[in-house]
Amino acid sequence: MSQKILIVGGGFAGLWSALGAARVLDNNGGSADVDITLISPEPLLHLRPRLHEQAPHGMTTPLLPVLEAAGVRYLQGSVERIDAGERRVDTVTADGQRQTLNYDRLVLTTGSKLHRPAVPGLEQHAHSVDQLDEAVRLDLHLARLADLPPSAARNTVVIVGGGFTGIEVATEMPERLRKVFGQDARFNVIVVDRGGEIGAELGAGPRPAITQAFRELGVEAVLSTAVTAVDADGVTTSDGQRIEANTVIWTGGMRASALTEQLPAQRDVLGRVRTDRDLRVAGAADVFAAGDVALAQTDDEGNHALMSCQHAIDMGRYAGHNVAADLLGLPTLHYKQPFYVTCLDLGAWGAVYTEGWQREVKMAGADAKALKVKINTQWILPPLASRSATLAAADPQRSVVA
Ligand SMILES: Cc1cc2nc3c(=O)[nH]c(=O)nc-3n(C[C@H](O)[C@H](O)[C@H](O)COP(=O)(O)OP(=O)(O)OC[C@H]3O[C@@H](n4cnc5c(N)ncnc54)[C@H](O)[C@@H]3O)c2cc1C
Repeated sequence: MSQKILIVGGGFAGLWSALGAARVLDNNGGSADVDITLISPEPLLHLRPRLHEQAPHGMTTPLLPVLEAAGVRYLQGSVERIDAGERRVDTVTADGQRQTLNYDRLVLTTGSKLHRPAVPGLEQHAHSVDQLDEAVRLDLHLARLADLPPSAARNTVVIVGGGFTGIEVATEMPERLRKVFGQDARFNVIVVDRGGEIGAELGAGPRPAITQAFRELGVEAVLSTAVTAVDADGVTTSDGQRIEANTVIWTGGMRASALTEQLPAQRDVLGRVRTDRDLRVAGAADVFAAGDVALAQTDDEGNHALMSCQHAIDMGRYAGHNVAADLLGLPTLHYKQPFYVTCLDLGAWGAVYTEGWQREVKMAGADAKALKVKINTQWILPPLASRSATLAAADPQRSVVA
């Protein structure tokens, strides 16, 4: 009977885990007695790093051609329960059937979701760009604003959170609002953040570029201020102020998929499971983790992967390699990703590109934007080449930045 590798999740980490595992099987005499299956709710890779842009409904790419080329089986469904002791998962397939799947090795890559704290009105009234359906809803909402009579609330967008995603949403928004209201329209785009600096977690390096982009694009930052309530017509802030806005977008941080809670493992404050250096979940010997669900060390300096596409892709390659190597009794590899970059989209102003964990600015403006476009439209897409080129791309020693 064949042995089974199950990859749970079809995002960046899941796709590259599947390819990484397929490559090891291919390099070791073919896959006759090992079956790799990837399960996810739909056979599409969602391009989450592009969900702040306009027309988000098109931000997907098919998984099946690349999985088929690599000899990976696809199952459309969701995992509801993991029993790491018994090595099985309970799933609900696309046609609503409940099915239990046994596995020999599992890779958990179910990603993350936006964290929504218990702020009154947030659930009902705040938009987000975290998941495809949410970004599409926001896009439709923006388009419908044009049907409302002009008012301060109609023409104001409040973005809650001035981190990486909040900055990308805010700097893209003037262009999006011009498409809705016309080139000469007047509107307000306001970022509200409880911290004293915009993009605090990005450090001081990129801040001048962000500040300049905000100024030139007309984006306002309200700092050292928390949003304490959201309603259909705006937000209330911690200093008792009211901002009238028909559009409120919450970007306040991500949490790892709730499936991590079902593993007998330590989790960090973001819900990520701690892994060993080979991405095996510490405490669950037959389970590997990659992407936003994994708290993994990237180097010998003590740096850890972030919830980012850049880390998800490389972790996927290593986790895939290691899960197959482990099953075949081959040595596993230490996950290493010492080269860390950021490329922050700043809308029509451009972008800012940094290298290293100190985020030293290497490029800003139009050149950085050209790089960002290349990353988001070429580098993060699955390889659509021959089988051998596809498998070669899954070599964990290769590096991709995003
Ligand atoms: C607006 C925005 C901008 C971003 N910009 C950048 C950027 O510029 N650079 C960067 O590096 N990162 C960026 N990110 C972060 C990046 O998108 C994530 O870190 C990345 O998508 C994580 O990849 P992943 O494979 O771990 O998870 P995901 O891409 O979230 O994929 C998770 C997969 O698991 C599936 N899944 C979930 N639950 C289940 C279940 N129970 N059963 C089966 N399948 C399940 C999902 O359907 C999905 O297929 C951005 C994110 C957002 C939202």
